[in-house]
Parts: sequence; C-alpha cells; structure tokens
Amino acid sequence: MTATLPISEIFCSVQGEGLLVGTPSVFVRTSGCNLRCVFCDTPYTSWRPEGDKRGVDAIVAEVARHDAVRHVVLTGGEPLLAPALPELAARLAAAGYHLTVETAGTVFAPLPIDLWSVSPKLASSTPGADAGPWRERHERARWRPDVVAAMMAAGPAYQLKFVVSRPEDLAEIEAMVAEVGADPARVLLMPEGTDVAALDRGARFLVPACIERGWRFADRLHVRLFGHTRGT
Ligand code: SF4
Repeated sequence: MTATLPISEIFCSVQGEGLLVGTPSVFVRTSGCNLRCVFCDTPYTSWRPEGDKRGVDAIVAEVARHDAVRHVVLTGGEPLLAPALPELAARLAAAGYHLTVETAGTVFAPLPIDLWSVSPKLASSTPGADAGPWRERHERARWRPDVVAAMMAAGPAYQLKFVVSRPEDLAEIEAMVAEVGADPARVLLMPEGTDVAALDRGARFLVPACIERGWRFADRLHVRLFGHTRGT
C-alpha cells in the first residue's frame, strides 16, 4: 500500500515569498505542526489542523495535472513531521520537478530537494498565556540551530526567511544568523502581516535594516495579489 501524508490542500499559484518569488508552483500543504505561532497564517494546519490522509501516488498525480508547472513547494504546517515526506520528495524529484521545502527548521530529514526554505521562529512568534501548554512547548521548540545548520549543509541551496513583527526582532535575528554562520545573501526579512498595510509598515523598517546588513527584503506577493485567502 502506498504511504500517506496528512494533506490540508494542494493548489497551483505563483511563489509569493523568497528567492523564487513569482515562479509558478504547485503547493502541497501538509497538516500538523509542532509549533503554535501567535500569527500563524495557516491555523488550519496548526491550531486547528484539518485535512485528509492522501497517498503518495494520488499526490503525485494531482501535482502532474498542472503540466506546464515544474516547481513544487512542500509546505505546511511542518512538512518534515510527515514520515512519508522523503518518499514523496523522492518521487517528485525522480519526475524532474524543482523542489522547495518550507520549514520552521526544527526537525531534520535528508531530502532530495533543490531549496531548503527555512523560517526559524523568533520570540515574537510565541503565543500568550491563553495558549496553555503550547506557550512553553513552542518556546522550547522554536529555535534549533543544530537542525538549521544541518539543512544549510545538506544543500544544494538554502534561504533563511525570517518573519519579522517588530524592530526589536532584529537583534535576535543577528544572533541566530551568527550562530549558524549564514551567508548574508541567503538571509531574507519578511514583514509579518496578512494585509497590504501591515506589509507596508514592515517594509519601512525592514528595507533599511537589510541595506545596513547586506540581507534581502522579501515581500509577500500572494498577499498583495490575492489578499489573505486559502489556495493562493
Ligand atoms: S511554524 Fe508555520 S505552520 Fe507552524 S504555527 Fe508557525 S506559522 Fe503556523
């Protein structure tokens, strides 16, 4: 029997974030996450996970429906929690797709992919006391420099994409980047927010911060194009 993964959605759009922004891509979104970010923009994969188990064969067939699209993004939730992710990645790699994994960088598995898109979570992502035990669990799990370093070393390419809520986050990012020895050209700062006004507010302090440090500014194109909607 084919292995299965918990899937919340599979859809085709353009990549909205990071080094491959604008690239037509099929997004395979797993359900389930080991973190609970206060600003999570996919709560249907974390706070209230939903979706169905789907077989690797069915997922590959769904991806192949978009015949002109050769990029696939394995995202979540936290896709590396799915034990069958290596099998799915191997099948898609064998079919010649360019593969990106979007991960918070807390769990490692070797994968035959092209881009590790790692988004370590900052102290500003930790939920409040109303989150119950998740506040402590999230805070304990969110930063794993050993895992992030393993992803950077696994190759062939990586990006460290930080979701930034406030100017005070910058000192924490500097310490994280130094701890793992990241290439400044692979460090991207992205404003936290799911509407254009929030992105613009973030850009006003993030663009100068990037110029000062040799990092990249990363907008969220899908929010500008489609708003905060699923399947985009
Ligand atoms: S790591 Fe991603 S999916 Fe998980 S809670 Fe944070 S933002 Fe949501």
